[in-house]
Amino acid sequence: MKTQAKNYINGKWVPGTLGKIDMINPSYNTKAGEIARSGDQDVDKAVKAARNAFNRVWGKTDAANRGRILYKIANVLEEHLDELSELESADTGKPIKQARTDASLCARYFEFYAGAADKLHGDTIPFMDGYSVYTKRVPLGVTGHIIPWNYPLQMTGRTLAPALAAGNTAVFKPAEDACLAVVRVFELIHEAGFPPGVVNLVTGLGDEAGAALANHPGIDHMAFTGSPEVGKIVMKNSADHIRPVLLELGGKSPQVVFNDADIEAAMPVIVNAIIQNAGQTCSAGSRLVIQEDIHDDVVHELIKRFKKLKTGPADKNPDVGPIITKKQLERVEGFVQRAIDDGAEILAQGDKPDGEGFFFPPMLMGRVNNESFIAQNEVFGPVLTVIPFKDEADAIRIANDVEYGLIAAVWTKDVGKAHRVAEAIDAGQVYINGYGAGGGVELPFGGMKKSGFGREKGFEALYDVTAVKTVIVNHG
Ligand code: NAD
Repeated sequence: MKTQAKNYINGKWVPGTLGKIDMINPSYNTKAGEIARSGDQDVDKAVKAARNAFNRVWGKTDAANRGRILYKIANVLEEHLDELSELESADTGKPIKQARTDASLCARYFEFYAGAADKLHGDTIPFMDGYSVYTKRVPLGVTGHIIPWNYPLQMTGRTLAPALAAGNTAVFKPAEDACLAVVRVFELIHEAGFPPGVVNLVTGLGDEAGAALANHPGIDHMAFTGSPEVGKIVMKNSADHIRPVLLELGGKSPQVVFNDADIEAAMPVIVNAIIQNAGQTCSAGSRLVIQEDIHDDVVHELIKRFKKLKTGPADKNPDVGPIITKKQLERVEGFVQRAIDDGAEILAQGDKPDGEGFFFPPMLMGRVNNESFIAQNEVFGPVLTVIPFKDEADAIRIANDVEYGLIAAVWTKDVGKAHRVAEAIDAGQVYINGYGAGGGVELPFGGMKKSGFGREKGFEALYDVTAVKTVIVNHG
């Protein structure tokens, strides 16, 4: 299926002013399609269209009617899950089954926020005699959205749907390494019939289209998901224009397993949390923090499971697809080499398939010191590091001894311990006896510490893209 190598601005498909960019299928290192290459002028047109649509139409549209349009989008996306998943799978290298989940979740975000649009209530506040006071949640205006390549479909729904539901208009810039399915989503959005300018798509490189959007003075709220390095730039730009910014950055999430845990239940979840999307997940469970006395048994079982994992081209529906680019693959290999130099040991790795794809079979690494480079930094590949602990206090210390704080899991049958440890871990989400990397449309999600701030998903996301207006009425 071919998507337009164009931008979607003010309800029309228009070429990018800087030409086109080839997209690569990482399973085969072949061309997957093309996108528009855009710069300042394209972004400027998109922001102006979004401003116009906010002032004239969307900012004045009833919440219930906004919800109805979002429902239409959810339905049209649901009707095209097959083609969206195929595009996402070819473009990102994620196994077709995972791509299908992501396509469904994209639709589900629009559905969830369609329902939420007319339920965003204000408060009444008791004040002095002779006054009535109420608050309203008002949209901020034009929202800017920049997302990475790892979950293009999910993140499109996750960031756009709440902003639009709350009455904002949007300019959206997906990643240059994977966004063909996103372009298709915009084609379907066009069919569903938003007023022109309400949502605009500008594709291109980070330091061209991305920088132009992050720097544009006409943006009222900036949502950025990506690396901490670029997050800092986007935050500085937002400071220059004095506007709110939401940052969803990386993670180095711990799975803390106590000796009383249901290991059989934990095992497949622990494996999946690191192999999902070939480990290229901000909330990947990349540090297995495990109690000393069960360490050897668990590691023994994990070795068996890691050796059996099948890596291969995404369309063959393997356990693990390729890494997104050759550059990213080399980065993962570099991490592993540095870990070995630091004294870590490779405990298991699956077989590498033949072919031109950028494959890195999942790897289990032992003897990892939590202070080492691999335990402190995001690999963004399927590498699980095993770190033993002595007791509860030690487990909490290790879990928190990283700069990130995105998500975490605690595995234990002791209810009191589960709550104590969940409370003590610095993370935006903590799972007890489970793990959900990436999922949970209804569940507020976001970072603590260097993982960023602001919340997406759930009702909470609507608060991030609105301001409270307090109206104080003197009865006279
Ligand atoms: P990246 O920061 O390089 O790119 C992300 C986006 O920013 C892309 O669209 C890119 O084009 C754009 N960009 C690049 N330079 C820019 C600039 N100067 N100005 C404005 N925009 C610019 O990140 P990546 O390598 O594509 O993605 C991986 C990172 O994203 C990882 O660190 C991962 O943890 C993080 N991530 C976080 C979450 C989360 O929700 N917390 C989710 C997924 C990924």
